[in-house]
This record gives sequence, C-alpha cells and structure tokens, in this order.
Amino acid sequence: MPRDYYEVLGVDRGASDAEIKRAFRRLARELHPDVNKDDPNAEEKFKEAAEAYEVLSDPERRATYDRYGHDGLRSGGWSPRAQSFGSVEDIFNAFFGSDSPFGDIFGFGGRSGPSPGADVGTRVQIGLDEVLTGTSREVSFEAVVVCDHCRGNGAEPGTPIRTCETCGGQGVVRQATRTAFGQMVRTGACPTCGGEGRTPEQPCGVCGGQGRVARTRTWDVEIPAGIESGQRIRIRGAGHAGDPGAAAGDLYVEVEVVPDERFERHGEHLLSRVRITPTRAMLGGKVTVPTLEGEREVEIPAGAQPGERLVLRGLGLPGLNGRRRGDQIVEVEIVVPSNLSREQRELAERLEATLEAP
Ligand SMILES: [Zn+2]
Ligand SMILES: [Zn+2]
Repeated sequence: MPRDYYEVLGVDRGASDAEIKRAFRRLARELHPDVNKDDPNAEEKFKEAAEAYEVLSDPERRATYDRYGHDGLRSGGWSPRAQSFGSVEDIFNAFFGSDSPFGDIFGFGGRSGPSPGADVGTRVQIGLDEVLTGTSREVSFEAVVVCDHCRGNGAEPGTPIRTCETCGGQGVVRQATRTAFGQMVRTGACPTCGGEGRTPEQPCGVCGGQGRVARTRTWDVEIPAGIESGQRIRIRGAGHAGDPGAAAGDLYVEVEVVPDERFERHGEHLLSRVRITPTRAMLGGKVTVPTLEGEREVEIPAGAQPGERLVLRGLGLPGLNGRRRGDQIVEVEIVVPSNLSREQRELAERLEATLEAP
C-alpha cells in the first residue's frame, strides 16, 4: 500500500495549493540525485513525492483521493505518471520543462542566458577538374551581424540605456504553463529587452535598437580536392551573430560538382568511353582519349571486344583524406559504319569472304 500522500509531502490534509507546491519543491530539491548522491533510495523517494504532488495538485484527483483513498484513484483508471518515467531527470523535465530544467525549483531563474546565432547555408558549383586540384570560392550570403553603429547595445551612441520596465532588469519573466502535473511557473527571456534587462532610451538609428543588422557577407571558402557532390563544408562562426556574449552560428557551404559529359564519376574512379571502328578493333592501335589532365594516347589491343575496359592508373580523382588517386577506366565502344562507299563495300566484302563466322 502506498504511503499517505499528505504524509509523503509532510503537509496536513487542509493544506492550500501553495503549501503543497512549496512542500513538493522543498522535497524535490532535497531528493534530486545531483544533490543527494549518497542516498540510494533518493530516486524512489522522489518518485513517491512526484506521485503525491501529481494527485494533490489536481483538485479533482485530490477530492477523489480524499474520499476514496489510493484504491479510489486506481479504480478510476488513474496511474501515477512518475512511475512510468525512466529516470528522475525525466520527471524533472516533465515538471519544469526541458528548456529550463530545475531552474525554477532551485530558484536560479532558468537557463535564459544569451542564445547563440543561427547557422547559414549556401551552395557552390565546381567542376570535376577542381575536384582534382581543390579550389576556392568566394561565397556571398545574407547574415545577421552585430550593428557597428551601436556596437550591438541597441542604443544611439551617447544616449542612456535604462533598466527594462517589463522585467525590472532581471532579463527574465515568469510564465505559468500547464504540465502533466498541473500549473507550473517557468521563467523565460523577457520579450521587451530580449533577456538583457536593459533597454535603450533612444534606439540606434541604424538597427532600430536590435543591436544587429542583416548584411551581405562574403567569405573565401577553401574546397578540398576529392570532395563529392552534396558534401558540406562548415565554417565556424561565419553564420548569424548571436546575442551579445554568445557565439555566432556556422556557415555551411554545400558543394555541387557539375556533371562532366566526358566522365562518369564512381568515387575516386572515372569512367569514360572511346568510340572506335570495327576495323580499329580488329587491328588495334593508338587512339586519343580525354583525361582530366588533357588528351592521352592509349593503345587499343588488336581484337578488342565491345565493352572491353582499359585502365589508366592514377588518372582518377584523389580521396578526400589525401589518399592516392583512383583510376580512369576507358570503355571501348565499337561503332559500326552504316553508309559505306562503293570502295569500302568492296573491301568489306573481300575481308568478309576470308573470315569464318564466329
Ligand atoms: Zn545599432
Ligand atoms: Zn526586460
């Protein structure tokens, strides 16, 4: 049989909502595992307290409990939510919100500090030849930067900055929200001053008091050899400016490798095709093929078959980690001529007469 809920929280049966809340907070503070590492029963005790609070903070449940006890609650289909949580942390988060865990309960005003800037994304296109060597690109993008007129404080230079009236300089405001356990008070950044606790008397004429302005920024981006289409380069701190004192976001540059009709890319290897006549295939000989480093002569072996592959070692692409270059594979494609002159026809007939059908 569970313990009496009033007994668990240490309040009497006539306790007000405020007294119940205060009692639970005190217990939660005492039983939190970070505070109370040495007591192996702290977690069970905390769950018990959470369950008691879940019931006694809800007028309807409390009335049921008062009249019918534990059995009354369970036969009404209720089960304590605290027991279903994996850890005490989960319960705390359910109580006090994941964005300001324990803040209110320990009385230090939540985690409403300055927030970092957001990330920015942009794209660049490069050619396959640049994948071979690596390259650089100047990229332009819109980003929020600190206003240099007011240096980010939002006030017209030379004018005073006053304590925010909304939050009284605290930078945070309290908000009541409903949670699984009833009405909970949480703290959040003040909407008037954005958490700074101060507002300018005369807002900066350039940024309107925001302390930040949108600007077109340019950045030289180094693109490493071996990069693949769709990979992103991250440049720390080149994104949007954050709140004063917080880090800027990052710039992500997505690289698109423009397809090259001469080559098919397979990781570090390149595939190209060379078109030759049936007679060249029979006789063999040198043909010219394109590579990323200009034209190269390759030797077709006599009797080459359609689809035969020749390997040009080391003429592919480098790996991203400076691994050795892949190969270029040249696939032989035999194109049969269809408009023969009379002379060509005679030659072909004489040749055919000497060959055996395969
Ligand atoms: Zn400004
Ligand atoms: Zn404020």
